[in-house]
Amino acid sequence: RQAAFRSDIGALLEQVGTGKESLSFMKRRMRRLAAQWASAARRLNDRLRSQWREQKRILVHVGFLTEESGDVFSPKVLKGGPLGEMVQWADILTALHVLGHNLKISVSLKELQGFLGVPPGRGSCPLTGPLPFDLIYTDYHGLQQMRQHMGLSLRKHKCHIRVIDTFGTEPAYNHEDYATLHGYRTNWGYWNLNCRQYMTMFPHTPDNSFMGFVAEELNDTERLSIQRNKVDSMAVVYGKEASMWKGKERFLAILHRYMDIHGTVYYETQRPPEVPAFVKNHGLLPQQELQQLLRKAKLFIGFGFPYEGPAPLEAIANGCIFLQPKFKPSHSSLNHEFFRGKPTSRQVSSQHPYAEQYIGRPHVITVDFNNSQEFESAIQDIMKTKVEPYLPYEYTCEGMLERVHAYIQNQVGFSSSWPGSPPNPFVLLPNSSALAWASNNISTPPSWPPLSALRLLASLEGQSCIDACQSAGLICEPAFYRFINIKEAFSGLEVQCDGVEAEINHIFPAFSVESSECGLQKDPLLFSCAGANNKYHRLCPCRDYRKGQVALCRDCL
Ligand code: UDP
Repeated sequence: RQAAFRSDIGALLEQVGTGKESLSFMKRRMRRLAAQWASAARRLNDRLRSQWREQKRILVHVGFLTEESGDVFSPKVLKGGPLGEMVQWADILTALHVLGHNLKISVSLKELQGFLGVPPGRGSCPLTGPLPFDLIYTDYHGLQQMRQHMGLSLRKHKCHIRVIDTFGTEPAYNHEDYATLHGYRTNWGYWNLNCRQYMTMFPHTPDNSFMGFVAEELNDTERLSIQRNKVDSMAVVYGKEASMWKGKERFLAILHRYMDIHGTVYYETQRPPEVPAFVKNHGLLPQQELQQLLRKAKLFIGFGFPYEGPAPLEAIANGCIFLQPKFKPSHSSLNHEFFRGKPTSRQVSSQHPYAEQYIGRPHVITVDFNNSQEFESAIQDIMKTKVEPYLPYEYTCEGMLERVHAYIQNQVGFSSSWPGSPPNPFVLLPNSSALAWASNNISTPPSWPPLSALRLLASLEGQSCIDACQSAGLICEPAFYRFINIKEAFSGLEVQCDGVEAEINHIFPAFSVESSECGLQKDPLLFSCAGANNKYHRLCPCRDYRKGQVALCRDCL
């Protein structure tokens, strides 16, 4: 069946149900953004008119909202708990609904079992027969529940699963045996999925798919009124929990010399002691009122925590400049409690690396807060700088619909390994900076992104493929590893090899100049954009990307 765009969200609101504060928060958001989704759907529909879009049967099981996982978030919604996740789930549900798919939503184990056809009372009975869904979106909690309640058959149905995973999962952590043997085992990882089945909040881990969320878009009247009403001396602090303000008195005092400071910190009966008396604290605001505050403010300032949330994008979209601390050294699971035990080695270079790297000046200013002079002069600059509201296309409703549509139609047949040898023959086309590969009638399996986007590069010694591709203005594309994991790739790059061996090592395919050693990857599950080793240059499959939509290559749609 062809999927037809939906512009009405009434049926979705009904499906989401009631009874939890988290669900009410999500429904308020859905209602508030409904018109924006509808007009994005019209635009995308016009652009995709000629394309056949298959209607999928989709189950969304929001594991962290189930009582069984302790539902720690619902009671915190009114106290500033991690609303970021709720924002993202609300947007994922809306995107899937608007794209016209056949949606079922579950926020409890009972609903999950009902939808999967597991008879009640037979908790760990494996699902027999075919899966009644083409796709299941869930999170790590949900995955755990499905393992417990679907039993062994999860293995069989694994390729249908998509895991919403804010901070990302790298291949070395995802591969159960490898993680266990090499010290990458965490509480969360080791599911042996194809890493593109993990979907992140920001495009920070190209081994995963970038799911994202949306921020509010402005019409011309709103833009104009923002321009008129901006108050150059008004700052809002990023941090809705009092603990986020702890130990920041020094910065607040400097800032207060220049600007009036507003906060949206949750409090019960009294001002939290972490928030100085000169701050105007509004308490936790409904999203809509927060937007109004951001429309007036000139500066949105972060003090290092929370990491990588939606709020800075909302601030920038409402014409604020976002000032945030640079982390030196970077924060990661190796040196920071928050990331410890998360299945990634990613180095987080500032509070919001996406804002730093993808948006940057004049909207985003990232400085060393410990250098008071640098901090103070950044504030002075901000008060003088005029900026327009800005929202990257990938965080608009149309951008999110486009991306999710592309994944649903094209990310098919995930399995941990590809049978047989890599598709051959290849033709090598040398060009100046890299080698472009073109295939002679490659038949199975078809590639998405299309192979025409592939650019093969060798990384520097000790450099990851994430960085190697990025420094060439490209992005690492894990789907292409299977095409470059062949010995011809070394000769194509004119690398001298004393023989080529295959190994189980997430750095491979790679080569060492010193020892003339060349290695291919033996286990496709370990193809990894992340990872570097001082001894090796890595072979990197890069691709182009659309400006403002990094998930998609030029010919991806
Ligand atoms: N938010 C809100 N009221 C507030 C402060 C924040 O509704 O007073 C919303 C905000 O609009 C954003 C969401 O909370 O969409 C998540 O905020 P944040 O970036 O702080 O991320 P989190 O740490 O919750 O992931």
